[in-house]
Amino acid sequence: MELTKVSGRYSRQELFEPIGREGQEKLGRSTVVILGCGALGTVAADRLVRAGVGTVRIVDRDFVELDNLQRQSLFNEEHALKRLPKAVAAESVLKSVNSEVSIQADICDVAPANIEDVLRGCDAVVDATDNLETRFLLNDACLKLGIPWVHGAAVGSCGQVMTIFPGKTACYRCLVPESPSEPLQGCDVLGVLNMVTGVIADIQSAEAVKLLTGKLNPDSTVVFIDVWENEFERFAIDRVADCPACVRGEYTFLNSKAVSWSTSLCGRNAVQISPALEATLDMKGLAASLSRLGHAEDNGYLLVFNIDGYEITIFPTGRAIIKGTTDKTIARSLYSRYIGY
Ligand SMILES: [Zn+2]
Repeated sequence: MELTKVSGRYSRQELFEPIGREGQEKLGRSTVVILGCGALGTVAADRLVRAGVGTVRIVDRDFVELDNLQRQSLFNEEHALKRLPKAVAAESVLKSVNSEVSIQADICDVAPANIEDVLRGCDAVVDATDNLETRFLLNDACLKLGIPWVHGAAVGSCGQVMTIFPGKTACYRCLVPESPSEPLQGCDVLGVLNMVTGVIADIQSAEAVKLLTGKLNPDSTVVFIDVWENEFERFAIDRVADCPACVRGEYTFLNSKAVSWSTSLCGRNAVQISPALEATLDMKGLAASLSRLGHAEDNGYLLVFNIDGYEITIFPTGRAIIKGTTDKTIARSLYSRYIGY
């Protein structure tokens, strides 16, 4: 059946004047990468597939677990029982929603060595990652490749969105200093409401649709929302005059290929994770929040945290040794979950 002007799958969206038939056709010719398929990624993937973005590439390194279902709205109990990779579970659900969209599931742990291949050829990226280091890496790669991306993050009842146009707006490194003094823990430690992840992913999706239809003005603003306090704010941020990423083009994170992000420690059943840039962690704060989840002890030099059969040793610089696995993907996942950097 052929689409007519006011009927068919996308009729309600085409009737919305700023999009129209022309915008809909632009969406159909677009490719979006959704980096991470958790609370933000599942919602954004659902919105963009239903909206008729031509190609949606879903990139994620994890599998579905029961405690994801509270907020990761594409997944069900069967996915969790089978421990399906999130990208695969999302693809199978979304294919039945819109068979016209090309959905590409990519089970991948993005790192400096592969991120350019993951992003190449796309028109926009939705940031649905869960840790600072991957965002810095995404920032570098998008600046280098000239790809606009929509940053989103949520924790507790709060979230933020910022759309970054390489060369036109402030970048993520203009927004966040590279060595935060406070632990930047995510929802695995501090919790998160599905209402805020939903709102943030919806705003990100709207930004992506505006961007792909040519209706978005690059403006260096951050949208901040707290669904518990009913706070909705929008503020401008300045481009940092000597930003190492968007001004100096140093791409510290992307160029850290020689620095090993994760190294299996031979014969020790352990993996070491070293951030590309050293952090200065608040060890007391970290110990206090981790002790709510498992046994955490700070001896003044390092912090040892035991959870689910793993022993995670954390140093103030952000380096960590994860005992109980030789699998770098599991180790990185535990690291971003509990340390969050
Ligand atoms: Zn910048």
